[in-house]
Formats: sequence, structure tokens, C-alpha cells
Amino acid sequence: MHNDRKLVENRITRELNERVFPLVHTDRRSFVIEAGPDLDHLEPFEVRSSWGAPWATTWFRFSAEIPDEWARARVEAVIDLGFHPDAAGFQCEGLLVDVRDDGSFTPLQGIHPRRTNYAVKAAPGPVQLHLEAASNPTFLGFQPSRFGLLATAGDRPLYRFRRADLVLVDSEAEALAYDMEVLDGVMRALAIDDPRRARLLRTLADALDRIPDVAAARRVVAPAMAEDFGDAVRHRSVAIGHAHIDTAWLWPMRETVRKCTRTFASAVALMDDYPEYKFCASSAQHYTWIEEHHPELFAKIAERVDRGQWVPVGGMWVEADMNLPSGESLVRQIVFGQRYFEERFGRRCTEVWIPDVFGYPAGLPQVFALGGMDRFVTQKLSWNRENRFPHSTFWWEGLDGTRVLTHFPPVDTYNAEITPKEFAFSITNFQDHGWSTDSLMPFGHGDGGGGPTREMVERARRLAHIDARATLEIDAPAAMFDRIERDIERGAQTPVWRGELYFEMHRGTLTSQIETKLGNRRCERLLVEAELWAATLGRDADVDHLWKQVLTQQFHDILPGSSIAWVHADAETVFAEVGAELEARISDLLAEVAGSGVSIANRADVPVDEVVVLDTALAPGLAGEHVQTLADGRSAALVSVPAFGVALLEPRSVTDRVVLSDTSMTNGHLAVRWDAAGNITSIIDLVHARELLPNGEYAAVLELAVDHPVEYDAWDLESWTRSGGVPLTGLDGVEVEIVDDGPIVGRVRVRRTFGPSTSIVTYQLRAGSPQLEVHIELDWHHDEHLLSMAFPVDVRASTATCDVQFGVVERPTHPSSPWDAAKFEVCAHRFVDLAEPDFGVAILNNGRYGHGLFDGAVRVSLARAANYPDPNADRGHHEVTLAILPHGAGLAEVRDAAARLNAPLRVVDSGTGDAVATPVVTVTGADGANAPGVEVDAVKLADDGSGDLIVRLHEAVGNRTRIALASVGRITDAWRCNLLEEAETGEEVGDAVVTLTLRPFQIVTLRLRRSATDDGRIR
Ligand SMILES: [Zn+2]
Repeated sequence: MHNDRKLVENRITRELNERVFPLVHTDRRSFVIEAGPDLDHLEPFEVRSSWGAPWATTWFRFSAEIPDEWARARVEAVIDLGFHPDAAGFQCEGLLVDVRDDGSFTPLQGIHPRRTNYAVKAAPGPVQLHLEAASNPTFLGFQPSRFGLLATAGDRPLYRFRRADLVLVDSEAEALAYDMEVLDGVMRALAIDDPRRARLLRTLADALDRIPDVAAARRVVAPAMAEDFGDAVRHRSVAIGHAHIDTAWLWPMRETVRKCTRTFASAVALMDDYPEYKFCASSAQHYTWIEEHHPELFAKIAERVDRGQWVPVGGMWVEADMNLPSGESLVRQIVFGQRYFEERFGRRCTEVWIPDVFGYPAGLPQVFALGGMDRFVTQKLSWNRENRFPHSTFWWEGLDGTRVLTHFPPVDTYNAEITPKEFAFSITNFQDHGWSTDSLMPFGHGDGGGGPTREMVERARRLAHIDARATLEIDAPAAMFDRIERDIERGAQTPVWRGELYFEMHRGTLTSQIETKLGNRRCERLLVEAELWAATLGRDADVDHLWKQVLTQQFHDILPGSSIAWVHADAETVFAEVGAELEARISDLLAEVAGSGVSIANRADVPVDEVVVLDTALAPGLAGEHVQTLADGRSAALVSVPAFGVALLEPRSVTDRVVLSDTSMTNGHLAVRWDAAGNITSIIDLVHARELLPNGEYAAVLELAVDHPVEYDAWDLESWTRSGGVPLTGLDGVEVEIVDDGPIVGRVRVRRTFGPSTSIVTYQLRAGSPQLEVHIELDWHHDEHLLSMAFPVDVRASTATCDVQFGVVERPTHPSSPWDAAKFEVCAHRFVDLAEPDFGVAILNNGRYGHGLFDGAVRVSLARAANYPDPNADRGHHEVTLAILPHGAGLAEVRDAAARLNAPLRVVDSGTGDAVATPVVTVTGADGANAPGVEVDAVKLADDGSGDLIVRLHEAVGNRTRIALASVGRITDAWRCNLLEEAETGEEVGDAVVTLTLRPFQIVTLRLRRSATDDGRIR
């Protein structure tokens, strides 16, 4: 025998498929099929018929007779709805149900592309099955599709029914097929020159020679299956069943409810057959749906949680995007998630589980740990385009120094199938063998693929001890983390990664579907505001249900803008409804908070003592000489109002006035010049005596670039996209007009038509203000383009400071190393700052996230126009305000300005309170002055109904600072809490004031007990 390895391997592949697996089903009976829109309208239906309009539901009834000779044998139904063989999920799916007399039903098990079988446990005689099938369209190949909206999807059937049979199963033949498949995979994962590889090749060929004698073939493979590699220290792969179900994506959320039902029912069914099988699932929202729609399935899940077979993980409301939600939203993801898991299952989660999220900001470790989770699982960075992350297990250290034990499953997927190839890859791909012996393998088809299958669990059994380097066992992620922690306690040298886990892909998700992002930004701020004003009145805001709706929309394919049109339409409807309800509540609350007369309310954590533009025309009595009525009817005036406070509207006289000429605008701080095409040619900071613009450059320049991602259109922005951008600075199609000429506010409007789109950019300078605001209105109709606004600044800085949740991070302003070059588009929430030690220039925004920092400028990504998966994404009307703010040393002034830009004052003209209410909480420096750089995230009454006041705050700019905190009710006791408002340590209270020191970027949640006033109220 000469070297025939390749030939025999090909023989094994073919004969396994054509001669071994066909031995498993020894007999079959076809079902008689009926189908219809519901169970009362079924009609005869033939195999190979078409069915299923896009997004529709079809009911099937399958009837057959189990013959007497099948008694006590294994009988299964095999149903193929016409599945695309190439994808595990993302297409049609079915749910087998037990129909009750009243027409309601209990889920039994899902039928999916890779899980087409169902064990029929019935005696000989008639058998009937009922299946609810969803004809979800597929979205393959990054092509624009009409299926993304019901209105454009049409009604042509999408699928051709392939098969519905009862089959008789030969368990021995099935076991042989699994044995041989696993041995074949193990063989192929070995090196060509590994002696074992040659031995396995002969074993498998010998077994094939025995076919169809199943027993004889099993005897041939038995010794190879039982090979024992002894007790030497080996790597341990912890496999955990999982089904990554996106809360919405290429299907609307209503379908996710059903995807969860099918997948969860299948997971429970598999547990009955395999006692060692365990399954983990995240997202309290998903459990909530099952609880509401299928309480009996939920009860089964709860029972399996008790048994330890079903493992809730993640501790969050959904697997949210991490870049875009506010810090307080991230907190509430955990608060509402952990509360849910505790209330329903009596336990909190110990691991954060967000394997598919597009980057992880540096503030997260602290948030996770304060939420009771100091372990973190993701694998998304294995998708990095440019740089390979150097660890699989490591301490991730956040902004404030908090560390969480982090694991990237080395199988590089959350949808593993436990093949020998994956097992071998996960061993060689694990990067920390030097100090650790454990890794995780989440297995199961996601997104409607049905989760783990029997084949996967069978393979897990066979792979348990078959490799000389590693064992495999099914267990909970916590078991793996427990062992790693024990290794660390014994002194294992664990690597540390400090700072954000930047994802080198999907950078377009910082900008795509901008209106979805703005809806979220508006609602998360309104929620916090409603809590503030309610707390001011000593009340609970009663907004938990609204929080949950917003948190659900923060899911990692909704907020990033990577879903079909239907999902974004739904999201924007939710945000509009939640926003309207919150506005109404805030209006009612403020009517009580404010006294009679016209007042202004400041929800920000910084006082206002400056010229503001109020979103309303003032009554003639108020619009005196200290008020300027703007061309658009709004009013500008110099006013004062404390942080979290309300004040009577009493415009004061302005001393520093705005003076305009045809081409310039000046106040005591800034001198701004523009040319005939409306381009800003100069901005001089008069206080620091600096020109902000590099020689010959313009500020606030629109740049238009062709935007053709290589793959994932809505997700990706390419490194070369921006460099192909064309500045829109010409005279053609431009109108420049001074719309307001001071003395309190000056405004210049530049209207520009470019191709199918129009921009109206308004430069605004307020009396006494050190910043120039740039308001942008867009009528955006380009196709596959990126529109940015560039702010070149004459500041020499090798990093830019970006505002993120619970602090700031530095990003490179140059592509000097591969890791720096990858950060060509980064997330910033409210500002980006370029600074020299004594002077800096910040670019503020009230509604954008994507920023480019290279080439001596800050570029704000304003709009994209992707064609996949939503072919009309982002076309239409958009508005945003940016600002350019020069400043001296430090960031506190920038943070304060950004806070004000994002919290415009409200005018309350219908106050009913006796007097203007005092701010419910005041935070100052220990010396009584303003507390620079301290941000207050939430002021609310405690969730436990105690009436205690909860104040969450953090140090936002990197200082160590001492603050004093007082409340309108006298503080008698104070505790430092975790995010779930549970007291952990007492704080000293001196003369009703709590004084504490914040470390750089430290988050503190305080619980304050206050004495009631004479009328029994705390206000
Ligand atoms: Zn996902």
C-alpha cells in the first residue's frame, strides 16, 4: 500500500454521507399535510408546494399512522420547510405545538434548518402534529432588499416545502455515524505527519469495509473512541449551549418573540434527553416575552434554572450596544436586568455576556463590577480587521482602575457546533496557555437556527477525552471562571489590558440611522430629567416601564443602525411615544416645581449664568430691552438659574455685546470672520490671543465622500473613505445671510445646495460666550456617501480627549502604529478636545457620535446613506448643533459647556407651586465653590420605596476631587451603594452635608436619608 491518504479521506467523506448516515433511518411513512392561515382554515397541501408570503404565518397539520411493527422503537418526525442549506438561521422556521381545546397552544420544540427532527413519543396508531411556521425572508449578500418593510415586501410565497415524514431510527447506526464523523474530524485536525492521523485513517477505512454491518463497524472504531490520554495537566474546554438571538435585526421585534419561543422550547426539550446538557441565555427582555406569551414554557425554564441546567447570564436587560448609550443607560441595563433575574430566578448573574457588541468603552469595568459582575465574556474582537488582540483571558482594567476578569472564547464564535475542527482550533488559538488551562466554547445555532442540537451534544460526549491536549465538558461559564480565579489566587501571572477594547470594524455604526440614535439620546435624557423633577417634589417618577422600552431599543443591532427599515421605524415610533409621554410628565412636574409667573428650569448639573436662546417667544411684558427676539421668533436673554433648579425668568442687561459686520462677528471672547462663500476663515480667541485655524484653512467645512464599504454597508466605514472627501467650499449654489445682528445674539446663515442635497448651516455667537455654535440642518438625499464637518485646529496634540460614558479617553490624532491607524473613526458623546498644556480647542455636539481625529482636524460624521440592510437609510431631514470652544488648561469648562449644550433650559409659564422649589441636591467643592469636573448622572427616589434619595455621580475628567453634597431636606444618614442601590458602606454626615473624595473617574451611588419638614414632606 503506497500513500493513498488523500484518496481514502475523500472516500470517507463520500461514504459517510452516502452509506453510513442513510443507515440511521430504517423505514419511513409520509405525513398527510394540511396548511392554512390558522387551524380553522386548513386545506390539503402537497410536498413540493410553495408556501409563505414574506413575514406571514402558515399553520400546518401533519397526520400519519405509526405501524404496529414500530412499537417500542425510536420514531421521529422529520420536517423540512424548504430550508436554505447554507444558513442555520435567518430564514423560515417552525414551532411544533400542543394545541388545546380552546385553540391556545403550548410550545413543544422548534423546527429549524439544522434541527429538522422531533422525537415522537407515541404508541402505534394515529399521530398528529401541529406546526406554526414563519416565512421570514432572507437578506443575503449585502444587497438592497425590498423585504425590509411589510409595505414593500409583496406577497409572493418564498419557500417550497420539501419533506414531512415519520421515520424509524436505528440508534446503533446513529451512534456509529456520530463515532465515525467525530473520528474523521479528529483525524483531519491532526498534523499530516502525526502517527495518530495515519492510524485513524486505517481505522475509518476498516470500518467502512464492514458497512452495512453496523455492529462490526462499531467494534472496529471502539478502541479509537476509547483512547485514553491519562491524567496529565491538559487544557479544559468548557462548552456551554447557547443561542445568540438578536433582539431585532433582519426581522422585526415581533418575530424575535417567536424566535425566542422556538429556541427556548428546543433547549428545554434537549435537556430532557441529555442530563449533562446546559444552556445559557442572556437578556431579561427575552425572558419577559416568554413569561408573557408562554407561561408554561417559562415555568419549565425556571425549573431548569433551579436544577442548574439553564444558566441565566449577562445580567442586562438586553445585549445592548456599549458605545452609544449614556452611562446612566448602561447602569439601568444592569439594574433592570439583575433585578429581573433575581426576582424570577432568585439569583443575580455573575458574568457580563455581550459576545456580539461593537466595542467596549473604558468605563465599563467599573460599571460591571458595581452591578455585581466582575467577569466578562465577549469574542467580538476576534473580528478585528487590523490587529489581533493578544490575549484570550486577562484582567481588563477600566478608567478608574477597576479590573474585571475577561475571557474571549478562543473558538472565535458564539455559534460553535462542537466539531473536532473547532475544538482543535480553540486549543491552538487560545493565547494564554502559559498561565491558564481553561477556555469557553459557546455552542448552538443563533438567530432562529434553533440553538444547540442533539448532534452537538453527541459530539461533545465523544470529544470529552479524545484529544491529548485538552478535555471538553459541558458546564456553566461560572465553573470556568471559578477555576481561573483559583489559579490566579495561587499566583498565576495574569495579563492586564488597560483602557477601551476598541473594535476594529463596524465604525459606521457610530453614525448609521442617526434618527434612531437621536431618539435614544433624547429619551435617555428625558428619563433622567423626569426622575429629577419627581424627586424634587419628593415623588417616585414611575417611569420604569418607559426605561425598559428605551433599554430594549439600545440592542446591539438597533441603536448601531444595522437593522432593516422595519426595525428602525419601530424604534423611532417607540422613542417618539416615550418622548411624548415624558415631555407631558415633565411639564406636569415642572408646573408644581415652579412658582407662579414665568420661570426657567435647568435640568443640567451645572448652573447657568449666560445668554441663552429660549425655544419660545416671550410675552411683551417680559420681552423688554434685555431680550432680543430672533428672526425665527425665539428669544435670547442673559439669565441665571442654579443646577437642577428653577428660577423666575428675569433677563438681565448684557454688557459684553455681539457686534456684526458683513463678514465678521465679535464679542469679548471671539472674533469670527467668513468669506463670500460663507466659509469661516478665522476664529480668534481674544482672551488667549490665539487664532484657532491653521493658516489658510476653513472651520466647520462640510466634506462629502463616496462611502462604499467592502462588506457590511450600514456597519462599516473604510479607512480610505474620508481621505477621498471633497470640501464643499465653493461659491456655486451658496447663499449667505446675516439673520440676527446682535446685540445679544448674532447669527449668520449659509445655505448650500450640493447635488441632490441641501445644507443650512447657521453660525451663532452669543454675548459673553466663549464658544461659536454651528447649527446644521440637512436635507440629505445622497446615495452611499458620508457627510462630515471638519474643524481643523492649530493645536499640537498627539492625542485627542473624547467624552465617553463615565469619563474621557485619549485617542491618537495620527496613524503612526497599526493600533493607532485602526482608530480612524472613534466614538465620542458630547465633545472631543485637542489640547496643549495651557490651551485647547474642543468640538462639542448635541447629537453625533462618530469622529475622525487624523490630519490636524476633528471631523464629525454627520450622515451616511447605506443601502444594506435598509436601502433608504438616513435619507431625509436631520439637525444637529456643534460648537467650537477654545479654553485654558483642563477639561472641566469643556464638560460644563457640553452639559449645557445638551440640556437647553425649559420655559415654564404655568407654574402652580407656592414658590420656586430649591434644587433637591447641590454638589459643590469642599470649599463651597463649584465642583469642577464632577458629573451627576441621576437624582431619584430609591427604588425600594423608602423615600431615600439616590444620587449617582462620577468624577468625569480625571481629577482627584473633594466634594460636599447637601439636600433640601436635611440629610441625616448616608450610604455608599452599588448600582442596585444597596448600601455597602456608611458615609459620615456633618451638619447635614456629606463630604467625600472622588478618585479619578470614580462612580459613586449615594443613598441619602433625610428628615421630613413640618408638613411631613421632604422637599
Ligand atoms: Zn448579535
